Amino acid sequence: MTEIILFGIDFSTSSVIKITMIQSPRGMKDVLPPESGKWERLERTASGIFSSFGYKLLVTPVVEKTELFVRSVGEATDVVSKEMYVFTDRGGESICLRPEGTAPVMRAYLNSPELKSRTMKAWYWGPMFRYERPQKGRYRQFYQFGVEAIGSNSPYIDAEIIYMLDHFYKNLGILDVRVELNSIGCELCRPPYKVQLVDYLKSKSSELCEDCKKRIETNPLRVLDCKSETCSSVIKNVPLMGDFLCSDCKSHNNAVLKVLDDCGVKYSENPMLVRGLDYYSKTVFEFVSEQLGGRQNALGGGGRYDSLSEQIGAEKIPSVGYAGGVERTLLFMNDEDKKACDVYIAMLDDDTLRACAPIVFEAKKLSLGEDINFIDDDFKVRDIKKHLSKADKLGARFAIIAGSQELDSGSLIIKDLMLKKEEKITMHKNDAKRSAEAVVRRLLEKKNS
Ligand code: AMP
Repeated sequence: MTEIILFGIDFSTSSVIKITMIQSPRGMKDVLPPESGKWERLERTASGIFSSFGYKLLVTPVVEKTELFVRSVGEATDVVSKEMYVFTDRGGESICLRPEGTAPVMRAYLNSPELKSRTMKAWYWGPMFRYERPQKGRYRQFYQFGVEAIGSNSPYIDAEIIYMLDHFYKNLGILDVRVELNSIGCELCRPPYKVQLVDYLKSKSSELCEDCKKRIETNPLRVLDCKSETCSSVIKNVPLMGDFLCSDCKSHNNAVLKVLDDCGVKYSENPMLVRGLDYYSKTVFEFVSEQLGGRQNALGGGGRYDSLSEQIGAEKIPSVGYAGGVERTLLFMNDEDKKACDVYIAMLDDDTLRACAPIVFEAKKLSLGEDINFIDDDFKVRDIKKHLSKADKLGARFAIIAGSQELDSGSLIIKDLMLKKEEKITMHKNDAKRSAEAVVRRLLEKKNS
């Protein structure tokens, strides 16, 4: 990143001093327009779809006790061992910036007797923090949206979440996503599998990368999704969890696949999929896109975490959820918000501006929720040429234009800047609401035609 250096004068000593412009912290970025428009669309779509499936918004603090993640995500994971932002607060307590959203949601659920009395379906959205090496699609502060269903072991909920997310991504216009699924067993069938896996990996340890050599002891399942070339031949012949599943895990997995088949959701079974965090059991899944490629091909991932509640000090509560990366999802959304249309206001003189301001305010009020955005109107009077060139630069679809001629004849012009056509709308004297209704109605008709 280029550092901008300015020079100033320290008047007390009359010496020249260097003033360095402050940049955002490494791996953390501002979200500015027009990109922020895509963020809004993603949040709107998430809120609309998730709530229609019965998932209610749940907001947890950005800071949590460090122990929450040590006990849930697991000390052996990269997230906890290398990537957490940990601080000691003024009271001497170890706290951290949350690296993920599932453990906090579970904590909130366990802390609330009201939520605990039933199956809770929740969704969240917010910043997460991991001290990773920043690169495209990977930041130190990034955003995740997530859904969690806590309190049910029904395979229909696993399938519902996958179905809902498939619909969510398609609704955002991302047609190229595919869901990959696996079952990683439970506390009954995974330990015997792990013994076999570790034996096999130990016999091949000289052929593994340095990270995976360590993983044999700390987190052997993670060797399966190692992307390094060195490990690929060992991984090809590794024993698979699928051959060790107990009857409960097997029938749960079959039930999930059957519902997805019946609903027409396209998926592929990936026996190598294990997910990075410790707390998963049974169903695990990722939404991936080939366009991303390499290690960063996942838009998000999730699965069942039936024993997470026990790890943070409660009874066993079967649960399932998903977390998707916002920045990763944005890479696939196109720039223009096809449904929304931007409207530029062009007032040509002060008298007209005075007469039209109430109509403009009313029109903004009326267009709430209608995918009409009034953009960058600074209420400056300019000549028509300057206004239109500004509207063009901003990429506006329509301009609302008025000058002394329109004021005298009681009209407003709506110009379609894309089709280069314009029409007049009646300006009702002393009835801003009626005029604004006519303007918004016409904008909607034109936008949808
Ligand atoms: P995880 O919580 O590790 O399962 O990650 C879920 C999703 O969050 C990933 O598939 C990514 O889309 C996103 N994600 C995770 N870490 C980062 C990061 N450092 N920067 C941006 N997105 C991330």
